[in-house]
Amino acid sequence: MSDDPRRLIPGVDRLLEQERAAALIQRFGRAPVTEAVREVLAWARTAAEEGKGRDLADPAPYLAQAEALLAAAARPSLRRVVNATGVILHTNLGRAPLAAEARTAMSEAATGYSNLEFDLEEGSRGSRYVHCAALLAELTGAQSGLVVNNCAASLVLALNTLAAGRAVVVSRGELVEIGGGFRIPEMLTRAGARLREVGSTNRTRVEDYRQALDEGDVGAILKVHRSNFRVSGFTEEASPTDLVALGADAGIPVVHDVGSGLLVDPASLGLPPEPRPVESVAAGATLALFSGDKLLGGPQAGLVVGREDTVARLRTNPLCRALRVDKGTLAALEATLRLYRDPDTVRSRVPVLRMLSEPASAVRRRAEALAERLGRDVEVAVAPGNAVVGGGTFPGHAVPSWTLRIASPMGAETLAARLRHGNPPVVARVEDGRVVLDLRTVASDEEDLVQTGLLRALAASAS
Ligand SMILES: *Cc1c(COP(=O)(O)O)cnc(C)c1O
Repeated sequence: MSDDPRRLIPGVDRLLEQERAAALIQRFGRAPVTEAVREVLAWARTAAEEGKGRDLADPAPYLAQAEALLAAAARPSLRRVVNATGVILHTNLGRAPLAAEARTAMSEAATGYSNLEFDLEEGSRGSRYVHCAALLAELTGAQSGLVVNNCAASLVLALNTLAAGRAVVVSRGELVEIGGGFRIPEMLTRAGARLREVGSTNRTRVEDYRQALDEGDVGAILKVHRSNFRVSGFTEEASPTDLVALGADAGIPVVHDVGSGLLVDPASLGLPPEPRPVESVAAGATLALFSGDKLLGGPQAGLVVGREDTVARLRTNPLCRALRVDKGTLAALEATLRLYRDPDTVRSRVPVLRMLSEPASAVRRRAEALAERLGRDVEVAVAPGNAVVGGGTFPGHAVPSWTLRIASPMGAETLAARLRHGNPPVVARVEDGRVVLDLRTVASDEEDLVQTGLLRALAASAS
């Protein structure tokens, strides 16, 4: 019994007396440090029983282990990452990064109180829905606007307000799945409406909608942008203008789910044509719905623009209360929308637009400079590649880009994993046995982070 190695393991109190423990207590608090030390000692006793003990009496390794435990537990779950995937609106990486102006506005709104629902003129209760309404109207030409949690929420709210217990007429070619469980037929049913599908997968004519209206009890005509896939060949669809004319005759509102929320001309970003909210409004749609965090480049939000009387009905639907947005979202959205007032600078200030409009030659120069900085020991090639818009938009459209392709004896998967475990994590692609870092989605002020992350990840192989 006397030569039981466990006898050498120090006790909790002795470890907590160490200078290093005092520093840990300063940083993490006494209770968590005590807890971590207990855990480490329990492992040590098990290890000692299995005969794996080293210098069991030395306090330093126990405290180092405890520190690692505490640091891991203190790391936030939701963290900043560097997106080197080349997918600009990467839904899994939080879609649109925010403009500096939006981040400042968000922080301001969060720092103290705000006039979220307070009328500063009157000194009385106001409405949170006024804050972005005028800007949305101004930028899309609509009479009014409303902000809810996301585009999916705006669709549920619109259909529930206009068509609960009644039919919504939709083309069979537009019964789409957006992703993440968002399927038009299911959302429509959950909103309390009945689906009346018309036409066929590839062809739907205005006449098909007219027949569906003739059956009666219709609450709305819904047009959905097929944002994440393309149909080609023998196809036909009714335009928003056709549907508005039909709806006006029958007194039925037309709701257009536009999806991406592009407020600038797609050609100015080198993108193919894409329906825009301003066009739906000009065509006379009763409501146009779009996302705040796709090509608009703002926070997650669902934006509704359209006729004032209809938007007012949405605003007073009790469901609107369940879908309402936070002050931080409103602040960031308002600041982002404001940037669109100056068409000359918006493309350099909204990060998503900036990433889309950076010339490939400039991306190439950044890739070459970064490769240079990595030094001779890193096996890196600079090569052209294709970035994509992402976020379920512009399927099949490649955005010309430049990449770093890195080979390592540890293998590409291992290197990519080490990059993900860095601080901040760097997320890259793996192709043909190389780690591929696409510089189009890496901002110039993130290049240092990529450099450090890479050098650390590669050095880890030596140890
Ligand atoms: C992306 C998309 C949505 C969903 O938008 P969220 O803001 O993610 O809820 C809805 N409709 C269309 C056409 C879309 O492209």
